Amino acid sequence: MATIDGLPPLREVIRAHDLVAKKQLGQNFLLDLNLTAKIARLAGDLSGCDVLEVGPGPGGLTRGLLAEGARRVLVVEKDPRCVPALEEIAATYPGRLEIVQGDALEIDVAARLNAPIRIVSNLPYNVGTELLIRWLSPGVWPPFWTSLTLMFQKEVAERIVAKPRSDHYGRLALLTQWRAEPRIVMHLPPEAFTPAPRVHSAVVHLTRLDQPRFPADAAVLSRVTAMAFNQRRKMLRSSLKGLGGDVEALLEGVGIKPTQRAEEIGLEQFCALARAVAAR
Ligand code: SAM
Repeated sequence: MATIDGLPPLREVIRAHDLVAKKQLGQNFLLDLNLTAKIARLAGDLSGCDVLEVGPGPGGLTRGLLAEGARRVLVVEKDPRCVPALEEIAATYPGRLEIVQGDALEIDVAARLNAPIRIVSNLPYNVGTELLIRWLSPGVWPPFWTSLTLMFQKEVAERIVAKPRSDHYGRLALLTQWRAEPRIVMHLPPEAFTPAPRVHSAVVHLTRLDQPRFPADAAVLSRVTAMAFNQRRKMLRSSLKGLGGDVEALLEGVGIKPTQRAEEIGLEQFCALARAVAAR
């Protein structure tokens, strides 16, 4: 069967390179090239952009990104078995696909990309949240990327976009929404993947803000929110005891009742609290 880029269908690629999915690498592949092209389009206009893709696997999303016109795509794949399949794609798009074989948690490829840079990935579930936090927490802001379009387990996607007083609200929502505008742009059932995972998935598109929404020190905000949500059902006067000093006075000083719980406090108040902690 012909495909848009003249390369073989993904099932054939997987068979030819014997890419039996490995669970420990989070390998749940997208084999429908219409679907991967759609995800690529959700990332916005790619024509003048370099794209970083973590975990290309057999290259379904990579092919979508290239067919949708990305200027250049740099992929980082841990599984060496995938490299020959990716090299076939590189040969079809001369000079537009760079393949790095290794662990995305250990290799920093930002310096190899030219702005504007979009990150688009169907992430391995076991490292997805960790990578998101890293991309949101560089030493200086704004970061090297302008947008992130990332596949997560549905539950993680809901935690990213959650608002106060909802079940999924917590540190991930706060740290993300402080510096970016996240939206869930697509839901996918398990059957969209091969093999099918146990959970539903969702694509989140995040646009970075030029400046964080409210002033605060990133490390202090991270620490205060970690402490507050570690015991999310407890009153803040108790969950934040570890900050030391007069915690009740600290909370009251920024307009938070010491009897309130973390899940009731919005981003603006958490930033005010982080500033008060930093000022002590
Ligand atoms: N992008 C492909 C797709 O949509 O069909 C594959 C997605 S699959 C969910 C995740 C991919 O990430 C796998 O190819 C896996 O080998 C790769 N991977 C897992 N851990 C990784 C890591 N630490 N660094 C880079 N790639 C990783």
